[in-house]
Amino acid sequence: MTEVDVLILGAGAAGLMAAIEAGRRHRRVLVLDLADRAGKKILISGGGRCNFTNIHTRPENFLSANPHFAKSALARYTPQDFIALVEKHGIPYHEKTLGQLFCDRSAHDILNMLLRECAEANAHIQLSTTILSVQNLSQSSTAGLSSGSTPGLSFRSAAEESASESFRFQVETSQGPIRTHSVIVATGGLSIPKMGATSFGYDLARQFNHPIIETRPGLVPLVFSPQDQSDWCDLAGISAEVVATVAVSPSKRKAAAKSRTAQSAFREKMLITHRGLSGPAILQISSYWHPGETIELNLAADFDPPTADPETLRIFAHLTHPDARRDLAATAQELRAIVPGRFADRWRALHARSNPAHAQMRSLPNTALAEMERKLHAWRILPAGTEGYDKAEVTTGGVDTAALDARTMQSRTVPGLYFIGEVVDVTGWLGGYNFQWAWASGAAAGQSA
Ligand SMILES: Cc1cc2nc3c(=O)[nH]c(=O)nc-3n(C[C@H](O)[C@H](O)[C@H](O)COP(=O)(O)OP(=O)(O)OC[C@H]3O[C@@H](n4cnc5c(N)ncnc54)[C@H](O)[C@@H]3O)c2cc1C
Repeated sequence: MTEVDVLILGAGAAGLMAAIEAGRRHRRVLVLDLADRAGKKILISGGGRCNFTNIHTRPENFLSANPHFAKSALARYTPQDFIALVEKHGIPYHEKTLGQLFCDRSAHDILNMLLRECAEANAHIQLSTTILSVQNLSQSSTAGLSSGSTPGLSFRSAAEESASESFRFQVETSQGPIRTHSVIVATGGLSIPKMGATSFGYDLARQFNHPIIETRPGLVPLVFSPQDQSDWCDLAGISAEVVATVAVSPSKRKAAAKSRTAQSAFREKMLITHRGLSGPAILQISSYWHPGETIELNLAADFDPPTADPETLRIFAHLTHPDARRDLAATAQELRAIVPGRFADRWRALHARSNPAHAQMRSLPNTALAEMERKLHAWRILPAGTEGYDKAEVTTGGVDTAALDARTMQSRTVPGLYFIGEVVDVTGWLGGYNFQWAWASGAAAGQSA
């Protein structure tokens, strides 16, 4: 029987950080993982260079049913704390954009650093291990059982019973049973199942009667409707800067005003793909999108939308000169100044399809020009769906933070049980925020367990 103080389930970003912090406190730490190597997602992150933090991290950069929950952990383990660790290991890094820090060389630098820190803290990692069940020894013998069996428990001798008293949990694994004072669940979300993502953390939370906020793929490309696919997808590869928002219907505006997250707008690139839209602006807004909602893209964010006054035309201002051409070809020419040429031509062609009268006109009225400008400020798309967990960088939703202590990540109802990282209902924006949450929540649990 292996006996430890802290058993960490999942050797990803959050689990390794928790192991380092707990090990530094001289706790006996064991990390288990199903995979044959630790930190696989770290290695593929940031295109292989690991966007390991964001220097502008604020609680506002995270989605959660409770936007206040992440504040405490984020304040106590900051990007500067992680940067100090990176610098201690002499890892070269750079800021790419918007405060995003990447390795100069490779994500291996970050993983090797974490593994070295684990070794120095005497935290052990055991790979290729299936977790069969987690039993809470401080509750009744059946409480906390998973679908796995609990061999031995009902046959323990009196001596074994008394020896187990101080241990809160017994965990059955493919490598044998383990007794532990604390269990830290760091098994991540559902994204990229082919890399070993499992629903283990959510299942375990349910087993202990912890509610789950509905999970959805986040930071994920969106799929066009069949009509939009046929209108746009031959332009795959074209990108443009947009401001992306979720369009809120008037009936939902009041509720949306209450939740700050619904108001989020992202000014970054969008990219047309073979099936829909991707690029940073789309990935960001995808985390806020729910099926049935419309996405609004502002393709002309540098300009104010026009009013009824022709003086307020901006994109087509040249066309208001007395001797200017004012047909659809002229509008496409002006559009080319703000979006790629092929996109401008397609915009014009689709406008002509839905406004056949305009296609015939040699001089479009100001009202038509203003209407076209307004549409550029609000290209509305009703996605058919997302590319799903196969392509999602993260899982939104997860273990309800109401069940956890914000300082320590410990369960409010099961002493010694912790949830950290992506399995928790805290999801960061694109740009290093998800790792910062993994480090911060991992450190919080590691300093408590
Ligand atoms: C392609 C891609 C690129 C990304 N790039 C970035 C980036 O540059 N910056 C950023 O901030 N975020 C990035 N992310 C998100 C980031 O990787 C995650 O948010 C982060 O890894 C979450 O850490 P975690 O420790 O909670 O989970 P994970 O890192 O997913 O670790 C979970 C661990 O648990 C193990 N596990 C799962 N189920 C079981 C089980 N049943 N039994 C035992 N072990 C189990 C897994 O094998 C894994 O090792 C990226 C994600 C993807 C998919």
